[in-house]
Amino acid sequence: MDYGRFFVTTPIYYVNDNPHIGHAYSTIAADILARYWQGRGAQTYFLTGADEHGMKIARSALAAGQSPKEFVDKVTDKYKEVWQALNLKYSNFIRTTDPEHEKFVQDFVQKLHDNGDIYQDKYEGLYCVGCEEYKKEDELEPGNICSLHKKPCEKVEENIYFFKLSKYQDKIIEAIQSKKFLIEPEARRNEIFKFIAKEPLRDLAISRSKVEWGIPIPWDKNQTIYVWVDALLNYISGSKGFWPPQLQIIAKDIFRFHAIIWPAMLLATGYELPEKLFIHGYFTINGQKMSKSLGNVVDPVEISKVYGVDALRYFVMAEVPFGADGDFSLDRFDQRYRADLANDLGNLLQRVIVMAKNAKVHWEYEPMTKKYPEFDQAMEELKFSEALNFVWKMISEANVRIDAEKPWELAKVDPEKNEKLLQNLLDTLSDIAGLLEPFMPETSHKMIEQLRTGKQEPLFPRKK
Ligand SMILES: [Zn+2]
Repeated sequence: MDYGRFFVTTPIYYVNDNPHIGHAYSTIAADILARYWQGRGAQTYFLTGADEHGMKIARSALAAGQSPKEFVDKVTDKYKEVWQALNLKYSNFIRTTDPEHEKFVQDFVQKLHDNGDIYQDKYEGLYCVGCEEYKKEDELEPGNICSLHKKPCEKVEENIYFFKLSKYQDKIIEAIQSKKFLIEPEARRNEIFKFIAKEPLRDLAISRSKVEWGIPIPWDKNQTIYVWVDALLNYISGSKGFWPPQLQIIAKDIFRFHAIIWPAMLLATGYELPEKLFIHGYFTINGQKMSKSLGNVVDPVEISKVYGVDALRYFVMAEVPFGADGDFSLDRFDQRYRADLANDLGNLLQRVIVMAKNAKVHWEYEPMTKKYPEFDQAMEELKFSEALNFVWKMISEANVRIDAEKPWELAKVDPEKNEKLLQNLLDTLSDIAGLLEPFMPETSHKMIEQLRTGKQEPLFPRKK
């Protein structure tokens, strides 16, 4: 497989609160892939951003005693800070309050209107502000409680605009079935397929008459555009001509928006569909759902201050197969830090450099020249944990070899053979540094520096 170009998106995050480990997870995955494909010579574009409109944000701002704009400016800055701290090198950070984005959204909705895909009707129903979504009674818990937010939905009655989503049902089914619009993992594809083939889709309410913090409907300034329509369009407005993406990474809570509404909007306006939509799972924290009220929200920056950014990037990708749900436990993190990073990788580098220096081995650093098809295949299939397993197999094989061949003894009996062995180990280490670059850019850089100069310092210092 080869991409001449690689355009990857993360969701734009709803900035009603600070980023946590879940947001970091999608963004780290996109960053790893962008670095990986760049390393393979593809022209890459990595888009992330902030979702800044909607009722939930307006209310959070009110609660904080700020205007919505002041509020989103602050939280969005916080996101940017965190992404920088985690060494996430996006190409573009889009904000849905950017004037160019707002203009794009209005033009897009106008186009739907001009094409005859929008009509006005009365809406009466239940709305969950937490989800920013209309709900049907049968998907709610008794008392019209949203099962996700554990709060009652609000009764809403308004005269608003609808997008003819139902008209695109067959086309969406066809796109998913033919894999023109590929949904992964497969279980998710089957899930959405069952859902969409079961009953006729209802048309989508695309405006709100009572939400002021949003983009006005171009032909009816008393209404604003539904925040999800606004948000989804960031992918095009922020793409700077790179459309369509090779990959869109999302978490499972926003799956239906991306698998139904999103392709329908694109099909209705003639935009190409994204090649692949990938849905990853959630992290629980020590076996419990992460929530503010439980006080167990994991701040990625706090962890990286203690263990380093690369250890965090490594842990989330190694611990759980991408696509599955997983658990984040600090004990487990600490265990992997000591075992995989400090011990297996850190010690290997240290031992080899010291032994090579002692034996005055002739060797010069060269960037990775060998191919590793097994690693590449895992990366192409977004099997990050398998890719890392492959690298750790190389690491443990190298450690086993050292223990078995004992260079410190070999140096005395067969210096020539010893030199070959150490050259070989140094080659392996420079390949490991190359393979790890997308996952752990700083570590990779440090490894290369140490291999080149022979100056040794611990990659992963011991923690008390
Ligand atoms: Zn909800």
